[in-house]
Amino acid sequence: MNRPHAAARAARFFVEKFPGKSLYAVKANPSPDLLRILWDAGVTHYDVASVVEVRLVRETLPDATLCFMHPVKSAGAIREAYHSHGVRVFSLDSLEELEKIKDACDNAEDLTLCVRLRVSSEYSELSLASKFGCDLTQAAELLQATRQAADSLGVCFHVGSQSMSPHAYVQALERVRAAIVDASVLVDIIDVGGGFPSIYPGMEPPPLEDYFGVIDRTYESLPVSYSAELWCEPGRALSAEYNSMIVRVERRRGTELYINDGAYGALFDAAHVGWRFPVRVLRNEVANDVDIGVAEMEPFSFYGPTCDDMDHMEGPFELPADIRAGDYIEVGMLGAYGAAMKTAFNGFGATDVFEVSDEPMSSQYRGDRRDPRVSDNVVSLR
Ligand SMILES: *Cc1c(COP(=O)(O)O)cnc(C)c1O
Repeated sequence: MNRPHAAARAARFFVEKFPGKSLYAVKANPSPDLLRILWDAGVTHYDVASVVEVRLVRETLPDATLCFMHPVKSAGAIREAYHSHGVRVFSLDSLEELEKIKDACDNAEDLTLCVRLRVSSEYSELSLASKFGCDLTQAAELLQATRQAADSLGVCFHVGSQSMSPHAYVQALERVRAAIVDASVLVDIIDVGGGFPSIYPGMEPPPLEDYFGVIDRTYESLPVSYSAELWCEPGRALSAEYNSMIVRVERRRGTELYINDGAYGALFDAAHVGWRFPVRVLRNEVANDVDIGVAEMEPFSFYGPTCDDMDHMEGPFELPADIRAGDYIEVGMLGAYGAAMKTAFNGFGATDVFEVSDEPMSSQYRGDRRDPRVSDNVVSLR
């Protein structure tokens, strides 16, 4: 079930409140409908990770600015992006990648090159720290070499997805400061990456305004070009509320529910990293004569539809104690890394898509959020 109004609201929030430019990280949800909603709400820049995403966004939004922010690309992908799709922004984290980009773009002089620094993932629920990013010890050399090749030089990083504390960005920006000072180069773009959180059971982050505030203050104190720009690359935060999924309970065994989506479907993260998506039972109250408002709640785990044991989701998922085969459950907040992860393994995965106008199961953007700093789930601010 798609909620276009929720995605548009998230996009307007970033466009209006983030103190710089917001690039949508397409991999979180590459649906063309979503891309058009974000564009209509004012998102003009798109962070793409593969040549397939380059083609998709170029086809869907001919006037969008594409930024190829995967630090390890094939020469063919860079070449096609630069020469056929007008991509001018690329990220890198090694001298080899720098040479590859220069070569594939025929030593073009109109490149914006962003050096990706390795930063800590300690405040995030999903690490993106170990795979990419240049260490501080190698950053000066790489920044200086990249400065020579770039028309515009950026520094970027990713604090990890679902970052539960704004402090993660302060810490990363301090590392950026050290790298810039060490290299003594003129920097034109600071890109704080993704990681902006959404709300899930047991994970209620501080309001996004807190993140934007500390990022703005720390950015303002960095030694960068006076005309420098601040960028961010939200994926999850722009797409999580866009979509949810209705699954059917096929069988109940104690507190285990067998449902028709799972590890190989949109619930990949629920199975593989134990992500707790919000759930609610959907019943026709009149026909079933059940008052769902007072039903006692109980924790359940899920099995997906395929034949292997890995297709299991620990949860816990809080549902009415009398839930049974034939009931339908809405699993919320699947717009980010949900639909995007689906496979057709074992012949499952077909869905019908509906557009609805009610509220998503939780929202960072509704304006009636209780102050989450009173909740125990929040990593404290320092
Ligand atoms: C995945 C990714 C993002 C988006 O991250 P979220 O945590 O979804 O905001 C942004 N930038 C890069 C380079 C990424 O790989």
